[in-house]
Amino acid sequence: MKRFALAGNPNCGKTTLFNSLTGSTAHVGNWPGVTVDKREGIYKKGEEKVYIVDLPGIYSLSPYTPEEVISRNYILDEKPDCVINIIDATNLERNLYLTTQILEMDVPVIVALNMMDIVEKNGDKIDAKILEKRLGVPVISISALKETNLNELMSAAIKFSEKKRKGNTVLEDSNLIHLIKDVEIAFKGKEVENPLFHAIKLVENDELEVKDHPDLVKIVNDYKESFKDDVFGDDFEALVADARYKYISKNFAIALTRKNESGKSKRLSLSDKIDRVLTNKWAGIPIFLVILLIFFHLIFGEDLFYMNAMGLNVGNGYTTFAGTPFAGAFVNEGAIMSPGVMITNLFVGCLDWINGLVGQGLELAKAEAWAQSFICDGVLGGLFAILGFLPQILMLFLFFSILEDTGYMARVAFILDRIFRRFGVSGRAFMPMIMGFGCSVPAMINTRTLADEKERVATIRVIPFFSCGAKLPILTAVAGGLANVLGIGYADLITVGMYVLGMAVAIGSLIIMRNTTMRGEVPPFIMELPTYHLPQFKALMIHLWDKTKHFVKKAFTIILLSTIIIWLFQHLTWDWQFIENWEDIAEGGNQLIGQSILASLGKFIQPIFTPLGFGSQLGVSVGWVFAVAAITGLVAKENCIGTISVLAVSLGATAVSIDGDGVDAMQFLINESGLSTAGAISFIAFNMLTIPCFAAVATAKGELRKGTLKWTLLFWLVTSYIVSSAIYTIGEWWWTLFIWLVVLALAIIFIYFFNKYKDSKVLK
Ligand code: GDP
Ligand code: MG
Repeated sequence: MKRFALAGNPNCGKTTLFNSLTGSTAHVGNWPGVTVDKREGIYKKGEEKVYIVDLPGIYSLSPYTPEEVISRNYILDEKPDCVINIIDATNLERNLYLTTQILEMDVPVIVALNMMDIVEKNGDKIDAKILEKRLGVPVISISALKETNLNELMSAAIKFSEKKRKGNTVLEDSNLIHLIKDVEIAFKGKEVENPLFHAIKLVENDELEVKDHPDLVKIVNDYKESFKDDVFGDDFEALVADARYKYISKNFAIALTRKNESGKSKRLSLSDKIDRVLTNKWAGIPIFLVILLIFFHLIFGEDLFYMNAMGLNVGNGYTTFAGTPFAGAFVNEGAIMSPGVMITNLFVGCLDWINGLVGQGLELAKAEAWAQSFICDGVLGGLFAILGFLPQILMLFLFFSILEDTGYMARVAFILDRIFRRFGVSGRAFMPMIMGFGCSVPAMINTRTLADEKERVATIRVIPFFSCGAKLPILTAVAGGLANVLGIGYADLITVGMYVLGMAVAIGSLIIMRNTTMRGEVPPFIMELPTYHLPQFKALMIHLWDKTKHFVKKAFTIILLSTIIIWLFQHLTWDWQFIENWEDIAEGGNQLIGQSILASLGKFIQPIFTPLGFGSQLGVSVGWVFAVAAITGLVAKENCIGTISVLAVSLGATAVSIDGDGVDAMQFLINESGLSTAGAISFIAFNMLTIPCFAAVATAKGELRKGTLKWTLLFWLVTSYIVSSAIYTIGEWWWTLFIWLVVLALAIIFIYFFNKYKDSKVLK
């Protein structure tokens, strides 16, 4: 079977073309060693089947990003039978820059002039014949979206791939052509394949080329010596780039005829007008925040029209499905919920219903109590708790894919880049971090857009600090309980304050990491922004399906195991007595619960939390509850409050309803244990910042390089520990603030001198 590779700039329509060509045969994986998507599939519509691979989107073949290296090495080493170079016809000159480099390789190349539907709609014309003549390879006009001319493209490519092709270059008229020819001859002497391509890259002082052929560097350097005083200086890389652009504008610009000049300026000014607002220095960020808030509200909002806030109330009379697991799916406390919450409620209702059916089945089959509890609470309960996030995760993905596909995301990255670049953080890193407010799982996967591996690791680490949807119950329960105990009305304020704290810790630790262990270049921001597009339904769905598979496959293996282990710890005592259904027995105040393995672990690790304000000072009779809650929170963060409610009841809080929002349970525990205000806030901070739920840990494991997960876990533990103990000690004894400030100052001084020392070593 023949092998074709699709190559082109980001956003030129590669994936759209790939999907149209391969249809259901498409398969998404990773390139070996890196987490860049690798799409493969088979074209079956012609007489001959063809294997097709979608190379990552790139602007050039220099080795600056993993994407560039992958694409370059694929063409050089795997030698596809034909490279289909896709060009966004609405952006002809910029896209041809890559084409001029691909043409330098000894491989059959065919150019697919994509987005011709837009060009035609604008009334512009592109003369493919002129391009064909000057490029020396076939040029086929297509529309990947409308699927026009795709069969012509493929049959032309199949025909052309039969012939051998020698690389040619547009640098023939450049001052450097003699040098290039000399180096090319040297490469030919070494019997290296693709001599022209390698020669030009070596002249550009390309990192990989210099490393592979140190013996030939001398030719270039000698030449540089003799040209030292020449007008064009000795930055050959810039010189080559300049020569390419000059050639393109001189020779290819005539292929494009605009409908009329006024039409051109009108079209440009529309796009410019949009950008003038969206990327405005002052308005850009507020607009972005408003868009974010609207989408988050649509996905996570419990009160779509702010009816509760305004005192309006549709009444629970509208609650349908009363008496079923779907009760209250649409209306809650008299307020209409957002579409995201409604869908989630229905989905979770289904899961509960399945769990209930299984329970009844086991009951009928007269299964042992422990088996019923194991299957329903342990296996299914744990699995469904995580699966319940899927609708909202997918909606979040959908939302961010839309922003990405329209080209807006590139603008946002650009705006944020302006601010954070000086701190070693690139604008792109903010997308995944913001996604973290919804759920860390999709957020971590989204870090794949970051070019610098170290920045990616640092970003994955701080994502959980952006408090996700599942941590919200912890914030509201503890803040609510605390506000009740103190008799104040600041519960909301505490909640918002914790969100802000999470963000501050995230950005703070990101900056610290980027200046210490995770130092690295902030890759230059590509200034040319893609043109705005309407997102495409089919591509979005394929994208979502990929993410669903990823989530289910990667996260579930580890989640299943860990939920089972925690269930065992919860339901067994050290001498193998089984503690029946926690909730039921809890109502009678079960004695065994205090003897479960989980409880004794809680009592054992309790002293660790003493510096954080919720350890030994609370006493072993009540205090261990907080430690246990932190452990169960590892499975899914909402378990934290579930555990607290159950244990509060078992400790004698008879008036407390365990289905509640946990506020009463928390109030009871605070009163009973004497947990101080600072301790309560430190408890929230610890659970918010420490190791996230198993789904997030599993995702991090998949996204991080092998063997680095342990450092990431340690980072989460240490950061949460330090921040919480600072909160507790400063809250309890205000003067300790000065000790913390001194520690912070010492740390900054240390980092400063450490980096200086490292830099000086690099220079030597
Ligand atoms: P990639 O980054 O190269 O994989 O580009 P995509 O395939 O994701 O396409 C980027 C955007 O261009 C999407 O919104 C597509 O819907 C749109 N697009 C792709 N091909 C065409 C086309 O031929 N015509 C039009 N109008 N839009 C297209
Ligand atoms: Mg793509």
